[in-house]
Amino acid sequence: MKILLLGSGGREHALAWKMLQSNLCHKLFVAPGNAGTAQIATNIQVNPNDFKEVKEAVLAHSINMVVVGPEDPLVRGIVDFFKSDNQISHIPVIGPSMKGAQLEGSKDFAKEFLFKHNIPTAAYQSFTKDTIEEGKIFLKTLTAPYVLKADGLAAGKGVVILEDIKEAEAELENMLVDAKFGDASSKVVIEEFLSGIELSCFVLTDGKSYKILPTAKDYKRIGEGDKGLNTGGMGAVSPVPFATDDFMKKVEERIVIPTVEGIKKDQLDYKGFVFIGLIKVGEDPYVIEYNVRMGDPETEVVMPRIKSDLVEIFQALANETLGEKDLEIDEHSATTVMLVSGGYPEAYEKGKVINGLKEINSDSIVFHAGTTEKGGEIVTSGGRVLAVTSYGKTFEEALKKSYQNIDKISFDKIFYRKDIGFDL
Ligand code: ATP
Repeated sequence: MKILLLGSGGREHALAWKMLQSNLCHKLFVAPGNAGTAQIATNIQVNPNDFKEVKEAVLAHSINMVVVGPEDPLVRGIVDFFKSDNQISHIPVIGPSMKGAQLEGSKDFAKEFLFKHNIPTAAYQSFTKDTIEEGKIFLKTLTAPYVLKADGLAAGKGVVILEDIKEAEAELENMLVDAKFGDASSKVVIEEFLSGIELSCFVLTDGKSYKILPTAKDYKRIGEGDKGLNTGGMGAVSPVPFATDDFMKKVEERIVIPTVEGIKKDQLDYKGFVFIGLIKVGEDPYVIEYNVRMGDPETEVVMPRIKSDLVEIFQALANETLGEKDLEIDEHSATTVMLVSGGYPEAYEKGKVINGLKEINSDSIVFHAGTTEKGGEIVTSGGRVLAVTSYGKTFEEALKKSYQNIDKISFDKIFYRKDIGFDL
């Protein structure tokens, strides 16, 4: 079968790497991909958000399946686009419908879904410009810190947590009246602050049954000790040591099963990944957010731990036969460390030549994120550049291998955190 994967980051390189291990995958195209996917698959210059372009590529290359990496095409309705076009309606697209993608595309929609299906999450209320005064009254009923979330997609920047109520009121005005996040903040979710430790749980569903993938924990801040500005993610570990069997049983019973049941009851038409952002409060799990795709860099530790054939599982999603499949997981730990451009997540330079990639030994897999090829060399083309993943009996052993291989890689102003997994 010929598969088209949409996206260009480390997540997509890891998905491509995993899909290519399947005997069912005869040819893989990645749109637009990066220098890493170019080494193992065929990159094509197609914009994942331009569905007409995607359709043309699908027809031109006789594609049999489309796998969507990032959230944007899903929230914009790529699944519905394919279903409504006779020429391509028979081609499965792995991901939720536009309605299902609202679980990520609208925080208000997600909170309503969580409450409707009795899934543990923080108390909340949503407000618009017309109800801003009610919003300020609601803030007074909460205790600090105050959590304000722009309803729509805001590139991971739409959540503001403030200690001071006056600042929280001003931020509410900023979001609703001054459109701080444009349309994304025309509605704002205010919610109760939950104190605990975060982790991510990944689920695959065909809308009827589900499989739980390995858990992962990512490290979001740029600085050591998880301090400083938020990034797309500076590293990840899998499994998560504090996600014990007892805890995961609670996650499955209280969160995963009602989520899949809710998807079914609400007819969200969902065949894809559900990324459940969790927080462990005491011994109990609560949902912080849903994403409708895999996380990045979590994919770079989750994919290497899946032993089963991913393409076969994707086929089962499309055919709604996931319940008949077994999912085999590797018991080893996997860790990944992100190498980023100096300055990221603020301004940074691109086009730096990356040296040392050929020196990497088999202890690690290097997934490319922001790279491109220029004049026969691989150069940086983004903030997050490479994810160096390793396996180990423990995550400490895996990390040691990643850091040893990272020592061989260099580019101008390279930066990475040396403390991934420090808090575990
Ligand atoms: P991401 O960048 O992970 O996609 P996002 O912008 O979609 O994030 P959330 O995941 O909802 O937004 O929130 C971002 C972060 O804010 C969370 O990872 C968590 O650390 C913190 N957070 C969100 N809601 C709460 C809450 N109710 N209590 C405590 N912390 C919270």
